Amino acid sequence: MNLPIKNCIWCNSVLPLELQFEQLFSFKPLTFANICKECWQQILPYKEAGDTCRACGRAVNKSDVSYEAMQGIEDNFQFGFVRVSQTGFEEIFCYDCVRWLEVYPRTLLEHKAVLQYNDFFREWLYRYKYQGDFRLRLVMRDFLQEFYRNYVDYQWLILPSSPNSMRERGFNATAALLEAADIPCMCPFEYIGDGQKQAQKDRLSRLQMRQPFALSDKIFEKISQKIIVFDDVYTTGRTLLHAKSLLREKDQQEAYKADNISIIGVSLARDQQLKD
Ligand SMILES: [Zn+2]
Ligand SMILES: [Zn+2]
Repeated sequence: MNLPIKNCIWCNSVLPLELQFEQLFSFKPLTFANICKECWQQILPYKEAGDTCRACGRAVNKSDVSYEAMQGIEDNFQFGFVRVSQTGFEEIFCYDCVRWLEVYPRTLLEHKAVLQYNDFFREWLYRYKYQGDFRLRLVMRDFLQEFYRNYVDYQWLILPSSPNSMRERGFNATAALLEAADIPCMCPFEYIGDGQKQAQKDRLSRLQMRQPFALSDKIFEKISQKIIVFDDVYTTGRTLLHAKSLLREKDQQEAYKADNISIIGVSLARDQQLKD
C-alpha cells in the first residue's frame, strides 16, 4: 500500500512519514503533519531572555535605556527605551509602552507573545496576512495549541477585520488561526473604524487614532472574568489597547462585575522594530 505523500505547506519539501529519533526528545509538541522539520526549527517560542519591556515583552537594549523618570521622557525619546523607577523598584518599558502609560493603567498593558519575531515570522506574516494564503494558518497550529494549554480557563476574544481587509483577504486572519488550533473564541466587538491599515499609518496618526471598535452588550454579558484579547501581531499595542480599554470601561459600568476583569493581550509575536 502506498501512503499519500504530503508536502510541507511552507517550503513544499516532501514530509517524512516517520518521526525521527531526535524529534521524540524535542520540547516541541510531536506533530509534523503540516511543516517539515527544517521549517519547524525556524519557529521559536517566545522566551523572556535578557532585558525585555515589562509590559509588552519587546527586547530592550540596556545600553539605550534612559534612567530618567517618566515625566522626563519627552526629552529622551532618542533613547527609545526608558527605565522607570517607582516605589523603590525599577522596571524597563519600551518606547511604545512608556507612551501608553501616560494614557492607560499599567494593568491594561499586559501582553504576552507566543513566538519570537524573527525573519521566518516576518515572511510568514506577509504570506499569510498580506498575500492571504489561507493554508498557512496551519503553520502556527501546534504552537498556539501549546500556548493555549496554560490559558484554557480564559475567554479568548478576537477583533473584527475591517470591511476592506475582509474584502481583500476573504477571511479573518486571527479567527482562522484560533479555529485551526481548536481554541474557542468569540468576537464581541464591532468594527467602526476608518478602514485604513495600521501599517499604512505613521506613528502620529496611529497614536491619534480614535477607537475603532464598539462593544456588543449582549455578548459582553457572556464574557467571563478572565479574558485574553488575541491578535496576530503586536506592533505598537494600539489595537489591543483599544479593545482592552473598551472592555475595562464596560466592566466598570457593570455593577455585577465589580471585582474587575483580568485582561491579557496575546499576540503571535511582538514586532521589534521601532515605528516612528
Ligand atoms: Zn518546510
Ligand atoms: Zn513595551
